[in-house]
Amino acid sequence: MDITALNSTKALRKHVLVWMCLFFGSVSLFFSVLNVFSGVFFLGFLELCFSVYCLYTIYHLNKHALRFWQSVVMCVLVCIIVLYANLISAPKYGLFVWSFALPVLCYLLMGKRYGIFFSGTVLVVQSLTLFSKYTGESIVNFNMAINLLLAYVSIWTVSHIFEGSRALSSKRLKNLALLDPLTGAGNRLSMNHYFEVELIDKTNTYLFLLDLDYFKQINDKFGHDVGDKVLTEIATLLRITLAKGYVFRVGGEEFAVIHSFDSKENALLAAEKLRATVEKTEFNIDGKKIKLTISVGVASHQVNSSLESIFIEADKQLYKAKRLGRNKVYANSKEHKNSELIPA
Ligand code: GH3
Ligand code: MG
Ligand code: MG
Repeated sequence: MDITALNSTKALRKHVLVWMCLFFGSVSLFFSVLNVFSGVFFLGFLELCFSVYCLYTIYHLNKHALRFWQSVVMCVLVCIIVLYANLISAPKYGLFVWSFALPVLCYLLMGKRYGIFFSGTVLVVQSLTLFSKYTGESIVNFNMAINLLLAYVSIWTVSHIFEGSRALSSKRLKNLALLDPLTGAGNRLSMNHYFEVELIDKTNTYLFLLDLDYFKQINDKFGHDVGDKVLTEIATLLRITLAKGYVFRVGGEEFAVIHSFDSKENALLAAEKLRATVEKTEFNIDGKKIKLTISVGVASHQVNSSLESIFIEADKQLYKAKRLGRNKVYANSKEHKNSELIPA
């Protein structure tokens, strides 16, 4: 499954930015020529620079992924140009109508938090500008000011609601596809994606494969519901104990942890810490006190090794830990239990 399809926010922002650059870049070039011929040199120069920047952004986006700062720079530039143009022109030319596009663009390109800030700032600056130009005969009279304000606020509100629900459903969709619904840990799909796409520097990366010991007995003794809750608690405990790194549920009562360590010794110490923490934890599920242990197989990333090959190696080590007594950590044929760690 192609998980980039789930990253709709980046795709949307990239499309919006490209079309903004095309549209505003062309409009800006047109006005720049017009302004230079009318003698408004500074604004003309600003617009020309903006057109060149738009062209460069389109070129860059064709070759590279969108960076967030590109969205911010674009919004800042468009806002400055619109506000400055309003400041130096008479209201009768109607340049203030461009302000209504700004909340939509800012929310689409930067999301809710930046959207609120930019839309609020534009409203304040634009109101002060129009107020400063108010005269008895001006086209900006009281009724018009109220209408402009209400129209702006309604566009702002719709942008806010739209972006909020879009971001939420994008996040929900991602969680549905990538998280295990029972434990909240990542699933196999997210593990593959994390390893292949997100983990750029794979040197010093380790995979721990953990399997709960005699878990069937917990189900048999306390019931499947309690077993489910134990699995959830275990996933949380692993996340807390590990502090960094990612926890994935890769089977019924099997988890995988992917993390980078400075050395093999540190990786083994971390795996041992997980094992010891689970061993000494007493889970209190619906008043029932439950203790259990885990077996851990550790494998490290070798040059050009795939996730599949690391997984197979970790599984071999896990099998050894099971065969040789359980509640143990194994890596490369050496056993590591409690404080008797054997450096590899
Ligand atoms: P071992 O030490 O060899 O791993 O013993 P085990 O009992 O853990 O292993 P076994 O493979 O025999 O049994 C795994 C058990 O895990 C059987 C199954 O009922 C339980 N299990 C798998 N998925 C879930 C789940 O989602 N919820 C619950 N409650 N139990 C599950
Ligand atoms: Mg098991
Ligand atoms: Mg198992």
